[in-house]
Amino acid sequence: MKLKYLVMAAGALALGLASCNNSKSSSTTDMSFDPNFDYKVDRFADIEVLRYQVPGFQNLTPKQKALIYYLTEAGIMGRDMLWDQNGKYNLALRQLLENIYTSYSGDPTDPQYKAFEKYLKQVWFGNGIHHHYSMDKFTPEFSQEFFEAQVAGLPAEAQPTPEQLAVLTKVIFDPKFMAKKVNQADGVDLITTSATNLYEGVTQKEVEAYYAAIKDTTSLTPISYGLNRRVTKENGKVVEQPYKVGGLYSDAITKIVALLDTAATYAENPQQEAVIRELIKYYQTGDLKTFDDYSILWVEDTASQVDFINGFIESYDDPLGMTANYESIVNYKNLAASHRTEVISENAQWFESNSPVDPRFRKDEVKGVTAKVINAAILCGDAYPATPIGINLPNANWIRAAHGSKSVTIENITQAYDAANHGNGFNEEFVPDTAMRTLMDQYLFITDNLHTDLHECLGHASGRMLPGVDPDALKAYGSTLEEARADLFALYYLADPKLLELGLLDNPDAYKAEYYKYILNGMMTQLMRIEPGKDVEEAHMRNRKLISEWAYEKGKAQNVIVMEKVDGKTQITINDYEALRQLFGQLLGEIQRIKSEGDYEAGRLLVETYGVKVDPELHNEVLARYSTLDIPPYRGFVNPVYTPVRDQDGRITDVTVSFTESYPEQMLRYGREYSPLTGHSK
Ligand code: ZN
Repeated sequence: MKLKYLVMAAGALALGLASCNNSKSSSTTDMSFDPNFDYKVDRFADIEVLRYQVPGFQNLTPKQKALIYYLTEAGIMGRDMLWDQNGKYNLALRQLLENIYTSYSGDPTDPQYKAFEKYLKQVWFGNGIHHHYSMDKFTPEFSQEFFEAQVAGLPAEAQPTPEQLAVLTKVIFDPKFMAKKVNQADGVDLITTSATNLYEGVTQKEVEAYYAAIKDTTSLTPISYGLNRRVTKENGKVVEQPYKVGGLYSDAITKIVALLDTAATYAENPQQEAVIRELIKYYQTGDLKTFDDYSILWVEDTASQVDFINGFIESYDDPLGMTANYESIVNYKNLAASHRTEVISENAQWFESNSPVDPRFRKDEVKGVTAKVINAAILCGDAYPATPIGINLPNANWIRAAHGSKSVTIENITQAYDAANHGNGFNEEFVPDTAMRTLMDQYLFITDNLHTDLHECLGHASGRMLPGVDPDALKAYGSTLEEARADLFALYYLADPKLLELGLLDNPDAYKAEYYKYILNGMMTQLMRIEPGKDVEEAHMRNRKLISEWAYEKGKAQNVIVMEKVDGKTQITINDYEALRQLFGQLLGEIQRIKSEGDYEAGRLLVETYGVKVDPELHNEVLARYSTLDIPPYRGFVNPVYTPVRDQDGRITDVTVSFTESYPEQMLRYGREYSPLTGHSK
């Protein structure tokens, strides 16, 4: 599971390092961040591209740096797999667009060319033709004539065949063709109406029947069915095609395996080497039992300072929630900053035992919740350029129960967001109460971090399923309800005096800043990321809307939350924070029950009633107010560039870092050097 950034939530605006210094939590502020760092890289459409710092990287040992180097190489090398998973024409389209872009010799200020460049930047950002968040296909603002003239001007070896050109033209210019990456609309075939390449030539019914037939529902240690495979038909029969050496994506996976093999020679310790070797074995066999063995070794390696994920991890982009997207993040522990999450983890059982859910659905013993604050060294696949700010893995429920899970907060990413947001006018527009703005300035950086920690370290790890309940029972609503469960756990405990007792907060009112921001975002400001006339679709956004709207509705009689128009502007006031906390606890109890019992109908009703439909009038107002601020709705990152220094035997003795690469330079370099599926790779 991953926690995504509340992109434009007020909270991110309020970074004030000084205000953190008077609380015990000041140890989480890594002072080695360079205050003069230039975060802004590029800006187009609804996107801003930033860069992030890697504080402390230079202080790692040469061996750790070499390990990181090879893991980052392995991470980038899988990039094409994600592109192909996102849509079967994405790789061919990317090559053609990049060929046009690099060979263009016309007027760089030509509006047609500028529109073409914008489209290419969007496609790079979406890892394909669809928006990473809305899932809608990008709309080109250049003409088909311009496109065809550019293609005609390409050198012969870069020309597509007429058939390829016909289909790619349709991909770009026909708005109805592959219109939606992932369709989650109620009541239609989610597979045939989604453009992802995770299924081919099969219907939702056929896929569900196929898995119902092969799933061993009695197993206490079930594999993650479908995780690393495309489902298609051969000779009229439904079959799975695993991603592995010798299988689908073999050219990319073979390269990854070779890089992991070298990385293993720089491992920090035998346990970490065993993790890497098991991952290699999984990539060689495609066997999901081996993936579980790998996940167990990985979750039990808590001693290493360098860590990584590499594989098919999150299944948000499968309409049925089964097949996972390729992703890799390489990171190293931020030792000083991990104190906060260690305190939370050490007290995991207290939080579980005191949670407002039915004792039948609580864990008697919360095992091995580990938590740490990390700095990302590289973001790849589905974590690039848009990235999560927190991760909690593995996803298999039984492994989490028996072996625990690792939970991380990515500090250098949240720090970059905060720094880039400073002073953009958002709070002045949407938070009318100046006392609340002051509270936010003082506390949102720390309460945002705490919310992430509680969500990842405790929220996802809490609760238990009743015996015999299918973990996939909530189907298309599972992701939204799971995120709601983790968010509610975090919200409920943010207001608990226990956090003061543990020294994590120094002000009993601090949580109000987070509550206010959460409700404001869930009910109003996150709507700025939705196009007029559209519903809320993404799981995290649905979850935030569900929680906020439900609390508003249930607290209406007591005026817990008041939403009213003042001088033509809708504003939100929270009158009773303690009552709001109790409402969060009540909803947590209900969603935990739904998960524990696999109550699909109740889950569906909650999501559809509170999490999906948008009030068009409010929506337009938010968009209008937002447009007066110069804030990009979405953000992502370019990676640092790592360059190895080698001895005469080719062994790495040091790795240098640079931050000067532009967004197009990085994308084009990745396309030239890390694209085994198109035959371009070092
Ligand atoms: Zn989550």
